[in-house]
This record gives sequence, C-alpha cells and structure tokens, in this order.
Amino acid sequence: MNVAAELSKIVGSDNFTDDPVLLQAYRDTLYPVDVPMPFGVALPQSADQVQAIVKLCGETELPITPIAVGAPLNGPTLCAPGGLILDFCLMNKIISIDPDELVAVIEPGVTIGQMVKALEPYKLMAQYPNSSPLTSVLASMVMMRGVGQYATKYGLGDSFVNGVEAILGTGEKIVTGSAALEGADWHYRHCFGPDLTGIFIGSLGTMGLVTKAAIRLSPIPESTWGLALGFDAIEDAMAPISHIAKYQMADYINGQHWYAGATTGDDYPWEVTGGKAPLPDEYMREWRKRKGLPNIWFHMAIGGSPAEIEVRKKQLLDYLSSRNITPMDMSNDPWFQVRNVQLQGVINCSSARFCRHRGGGWVSLVMLAPIKKWGEILEPLVEKGKTLGFDPTYLLKVYGPYGHSSQCRFVVSFDKGSPDERARAFAFTETVAKHAVEKGANVHRQTMHPEIIQSRQPEYFALLKLIKSLVDPKCILNPGVLNLSKETLAYRQGGEAEDAG
Ligand SMILES: Cc1cc2nc3c(=O)[nH]c(=O)nc-3n(C[C@H](O)[C@H](O)[C@H](O)COP(=O)(O)OP(=O)(O)OC[C@H]3O[C@@H](n4cnc5c(N)ncnc54)[C@H](O)[C@@H]3O)c2cc1C
Repeated sequence: MNVAAELSKIVGSDNFTDDPVLLQAYRDTLYPVDVPMPFGVALPQSADQVQAIVKLCGETELPITPIAVGAPLNGPTLCAPGGLILDFCLMNKIISIDPDELVAVIEPGVTIGQMVKALEPYKLMAQYPNSSPLTSVLASMVMMRGVGQYATKYGLGDSFVNGVEAILGTGEKIVTGSAALEGADWHYRHCFGPDLTGIFIGSLGTMGLVTKAAIRLSPIPESTWGLALGFDAIEDAMAPISHIAKYQMADYINGQHWYAGATTGDDYPWEVTGGKAPLPDEYMREWRKRKGLPNIWFHMAIGGSPAEIEVRKKQLLDYLSSRNITPMDMSNDPWFQVRNVQLQGVINCSSARFCRHRGGGWVSLVMLAPIKKWGEILEPLVEKGKTLGFDPTYLLKVYGPYGHSSQCRFVVSFDKGSPDERARAFAFTETVAKHAVEKGANVHRQTMHPEIIQSRQPEYFALLKLIKSLVDPKCILNPGVLNLSKETLAYRQGGEAEDAG
C-alpha cells in the first residue's frame, strides 16, 4: 500500500508532506537529544480524519506522534523513527462556550491567545500558563497537567478537564465525562465508575488522540494585588510559604532562585561578561549580598473585588508581620510586572539574553514535590549541577487548592553545538530525575527518563501497560513515550520478549 498517497487522500494533498526539508522543522528541539526523522506529517481537520488515519496506521503498524505545538518545555516531543507526525494545528475551533456552566469545548489546536480573546466578553478565563506564549495550545497544556497563573487557588491543569473525545489506537472514538451519556453536556468530569478521562490526562498521547476537550473556566478577578518576598536561603522560605498556601492567603505563589530572578532588568552584572555566559553561582551570591538582594524570590497575588482584597491583604500582611518578614508591595512597580508576568517566559527561551548565555540549548526537568522537601531537593541539585559544569536555576510554583505541593523546575542552558555540553546537559536531566525519585518527589510530565521513576513503581507501571495494551494493542500511539513500547508491552500481549519494564 502507498501510505503517503492514502494519507494525502484522507487529509488532502496540501495537508500531508513527506518532503525532508519541511520535516526538518519538526526535528528542532532545545533539548540535548537527537530527534528522529519522521516518515511524514499530516494535518487533520476533523475527528473523522484522525480516525481514518489511526485505522490506516494500525493496518500498516505505522507509529503516530501527535503534536500541538511541540514545545512542551519538560522534555522533547520525539516521534518514533520513521513514524507519522499528526500536527493538530488545523483542528483549532472553539466549539462552544457556556458562560453559566463555566465550560468550553475546544479542539486540540486552540491556542491560549484564541481563548483569551473568545472569553474576554464574558470576563472569564481558562487555566492559562504563567508564561507560555499566546501561541501555546490550551488542550495539551491542561492535558499535561500544566501549571497556570492561579494554580495555587485552582490546582494543576488536570483539574480543569471535564472530559474528552479521543480516538483510541484501535480506531474507536470514545467520549469521557458526563457527555458520554448521549445528549448530555460536559458539566462533570466523570460519567459512572472510575475516572476514564484520567486515562488520557498526562498520557502524552500514548492512550488516545484527543480530538475534543471540555475545559472548565473561571471568572477573571475584578482586580489583583501582589507582593514579593525575598529570602536568603530556601529553608527560610519553607514554613512561611507553606503557611500562606495552607490558609489560601494568596491565589498564586511562584518562586525563583536568584539566577532566574536576575535574567531581566538591571540587577545583573551584564558588564562582567557582556551577557555572554552565566556568571558562577558563587560570584553572584557574593554580588547579590553586596547589593542587598535576596537569593530566592517569591511573588504572590490575590484576586477579587477591592473589598475582598482589602480583607485578604490584611490577613497576609498580619501574618508576615508576625514572622518579621518585610514584603515588597509591587503592585505599581513595572519591575514586578516584568517578573510577575514574563519572568518565566524569559527563562523558558523567549529571551535572547538568556539563550545567548550559552548557545541556544536549554533543558528543564520538572518535578512535583511537597514544600517540606525543598531543602532536600533544591540546593543539593544546584550543587550537583555545578559538578557537571552548569549553574542551574530553579523555578517554583505552589499549587493547590490546599497548597502543600509545588512544581519545581530546574533549568540549565547549554551550547547545542558542543557534544560535550550536550552530554553534560543530558546527564543533568538524569541527575534531576534520580534525585527527585530518591527524595520521594514525582517527575512531572515524564517525557524524559520515565524508566527511572517506573523502576520505583513496578506494579503501577504494570497496570499502565495493561491499559495501554487494551486501548492501543498494536502500540502505534507515541510508542516509547512513558516507556510504553512494543517491547515493554510484549509481556502483557503474550509475546516472547522479556518484560523490559
Ligand atoms: C516560553 C514557554 C513558557 C511556558 N510556560 C508554561 C507554564 O508556565 N505552565 C505550563 O503549564 N506550561 C508552560 N509551557 C508549556 C506550554 O504551555 C505548552 O505549550 C503545553 O504544555 C503543551 O505543549 P505543546 O503543545 O507545545 O507540546 P506537544 O509536544 O505538541 O504536546 C505535548 C504532549 O501531548 C501530546 N499531544 C499533543 N496533542 C495531542 C492530542 N491531540 N492528543 C493526544 N496527545 C497529544 C504530544 O504527543 C506530547 O506528548 C510553556 C511553553 C513555552 C514555550
């Protein structure tokens, strides 16, 4: 069978390509890994087309890698060598917005910018990430349990999904959540029995291809007020931040290690290196001490009506005063606005300044850890990074709604053109994953080193494999991702290969 011709028939000849020049664009990554060459890229425009593609790929056992934007920043999206990339950018319709039930139904290519614009008249918002560009895609962000601006108040992205329509590896179309009942709306995440929506969330495209997602909405706060706190050591921050989160005194709490806090603005001695390289941690610590700047920043905000803000502001300020912590009121300070809104985007590669530090390479590995573990995780990892020749920085996001847990993102920049730096940057991602697991943290969005975390959870992984072998028996959906490859499934399918899991 001529698969390329069949794919062109399904999506239209303008929406399929196997031109090696165009395929190169899908191989770019900031990460220190080699992205395999795909067989081709198809851009479907409907769930029916996705279904037809999955059936065709099932017959020919052609692996499929779905992508929304392909810039998830927690590890590269790698297609299987010679596999098909399914680019969802043309499935970008907002199907419905229900401003009373607070739910929107969207196709998987809808961008954050589209949603901001569409929800503006209703004064509503979806779970927007803190810092990704408006071109980022909402469905994959929430499906990947993204961390949004109000994660301390509302939780991670998965709490915002009321159900999905998905195409399984068998080619069947299924609907989860309350809309699974014919004629019902997506008003509730569950239908009956266990949480079947959950099979797709965090599955990174291994369990099904999402063709629609129902996303919960929330009101945009009438006004906001924010402050920043500085600490010299992460240990000093743990108790107060945990308390503020526990009693929901702030709607979002984000923190960053000095290095992240120093990549914008003038509080960085650019003159020393001309901005060409990150200055060593020791140098910067000393420099910041001289300037009276803290090593770790937290910024937090409260949203609501002005009256509500006054009450909560007093509660927060009284608490800080009881601990002798002096906050900085940043609400009118443009410097704070930069940090508040753009900082993490700056770190995450949108800043030429940050990237030119080393030459365009960037890795981040994200873990989820309770606040009480920060002392054991953060500074030890900075030190481990130094032994690999980097000065890693970290970003923290406290998520709730009851706020004992956090997303910790470790970042290093490296020279993509240097094999040595690539190898060390890759080793750093391994170091972070191992350390996280040893300390009882979880690797968030396990796109890199899933085997490290799975080695601690063999029974859990066995269940995952069992589910995968039911929904995708030929293992054509993102094979290898989450360590779910044909080899690891062979055991479940009665094959002869050893159970690699
Ligand atoms: C500068 C920058 C800042 C960012 N800041 C944040 C932030 O603050 N918080 C945050 O949460 N995120 C942040 N992100 C991540 C961003 O929101 C991502 O766009 C999002 O996580 C989705 O990733 P993607 O669409 O780029 O990835 P993709 O790689 O396209 O998709 C992610 C995964 O989902 C799978 N997938 C894609 N489409 C489908 C589908 N239809 N069905 C099934 N599986 C599918 C892919 O195979 C892949 O495994 C940031 C990104 C950038 C570039």
